[in-house]
Amino acid sequence: MNQKIRQMDGVKQQIIALLKENIRNIPDFPKPGIQFKDITTLLRNPDTLELTSQVLARPFRRMNIDYVIGLESRGFLFGTNLAQDLHAGFIPIRKPGKLPADTVSATYALEYGEDTIEMHSDAFDEGDRILIHDDLIATGGSAKAATQLVEKLGGHVVGYSFIIELEALQGCDQLPEDVQKDILISL
Ligand code: AMP
Repeated sequence: MNQKIRQMDGVKQQIIALLKENIRNIPDFPKPGIQFKDITTLLRNPDTLELTSQVLARPFRRMNIDYVIGLESRGFLFGTNLAQDLHAGFIPIRKPGKLPADTVSATYALEYGEDTIEMHSDAFDEGDRILIHDDLIATGGSAKAATQLVEKLGGHVVGYSFIIELEALQGCDQLPEDVQKDILISL
């Protein structure tokens, strides 16, 4: 049994190494000083596209997730697929003015600038179990604001899923300590 787990861990490490190789760093985008982590190269490769989806879903399979929330816009890329894999629904959190029905909103600080996010006020029912997903966590501001939106509507955030974490910015410290966080790559 232990050996099986170790073998699985070994395979996961190999997959993660492959994913890491397929993420491109773009210096000084969109502003001088920002090291932009570009996942279009990960999406372009059919192998890493498939493997990323598989490893994102695995830790949450037995957690009875009702909805995956994806943060605009790169959180949509794997978010809907993650929801399908977990047999959950998908809810988009969007920039202001994009969602057509009644919304709740929250303002947060980005690594570069400030922004507001919105979610439909009837997106889920009170007590629903929510997984928040984005491609990358930097300062943690947007994931924290998303958590506030979920709590405003009486939902429970039971997990966070990110492909990349910018470790030095300690974004996860902004999120509740007792909630599961799955990060594939720490940079
Ligand atoms: P934050 O709210 O500071 O955690 O920022 C996370 C959001 O900003 C995510 O939606 C990311 O896609 C985007 N983002 C922030 N910094 C970067 C970066 N260096 N490279 C790529 N995306 C980033």
